[in-house]
Amino acid sequence: MREYTIKGQLYVDIYTIGYEPKGEGIVLKIKDGNKIVFCCVIDCYEIENQNETLKLIQDESIDLICLTHPHEDHCKGIEKILEKANSSTTLLYPNYMLDEKYRNKKDANNAIEKISKILIKRRDNNSKPRTMACVGRQCIMDDIKFFDIENGGKYGMYVNTYTPLSVVLDKRKAKEFLGENTIGDIQDNNLSIMMSITIGRLKLLFCGDTEDETITELNDVVNKEEGHFFNGVIDYVKIPHHGSDGTLEMFNLLSNVNTVSNSVSTVYRISKIPKIKVLEEYRKKRSKVYCTGHIDKDENISNYGIVKQRFDIINETVKSELIKNAVEI
Ligand SMILES: [Zn+2]
Repeated sequence: MREYTIKGQLYVDIYTIGYEPKGEGIVLKIKDGNKIVFCCVIDCYEIENQNETLKLIQDESIDLICLTHPHEDHCKGIEKILEKANSSTTLLYPNYMLDEKYRNKKDANNAIEKISKILIKRRDNNSKPRTMACVGRQCIMDDIKFFDIENGGKYGMYVNTYTPLSVVLDKRKAKEFLGENTIGDIQDNNLSIMMSITIGRLKLLFCGDTEDETITELNDVVNKEEGHFFNGVIDYVKIPHHGSDGTLEMFNLLSNVNTVSNSVSTVYRISKIPKIKVLEEYRKKRSKVYCTGHIDKDENISNYGIVKQRFDIINETVKSELIKNAVEI
């Protein structure tokens, strides 16, 4: 159990970073006034050593690093973030990543090899027990509490993964055990980790590149639970898979959600995403919709954009700031 006493101020700052023509990462900082009490990194990208994630975390101690899936547009430069992990950092990653068979796949790039080495070293080091593979839908952190000594408020923090990785992975393993050498029709995006963070009444959903096949499976799971995360209001959604058509199933998953107050997409130019019709679905949820770059490529642009949002947990307000290429849709 980790307990923090705060004095009337509790902020969650989220930086959704997107690069041109592709690549994304997120930094989340929980602050007691100006003091950072929790720092989380989800995915990473860099262009010619320009790594906005690294700039944002500088001297912070990192509590949680989540690599949603090992595609280049989500993991370039993340080895520099992993090097900053300390003994109390929780690492979350798809468990198949360390599988020899996956690492030998012909499209596996150097980044996967570099990342795997760091993860294997940490996994095998007993003094660093918080490294974990993502093995399915589970609560990975439920031991953090914030106590406001000025107003008497209490705010619990919970981190969950919802991707039924084990279900999809079992299919894959079954194929291997049955003697098929190919990965079959299962794409890496189907293994992408979806993660939720709840702090008091604030609910945040980080979707990585999760696509329809996984979201369909999630529908079966989440509709069976009462008082679930997917009810009421969600305050922030990182739109899955750069707002592609392959994520429209998401709106079935969000059927019990009245409002998504803020949705943010990144761009992936070669696939011409995000798609405007996907973003319009988020708007129907009374959401403000942002993108780290223009939907149609603008010639006069920087090589990145950041949507920064500050959620004030105690006063239940949000302020958004658009940096470089970032726009409201
Ligand atoms: Zn991607």
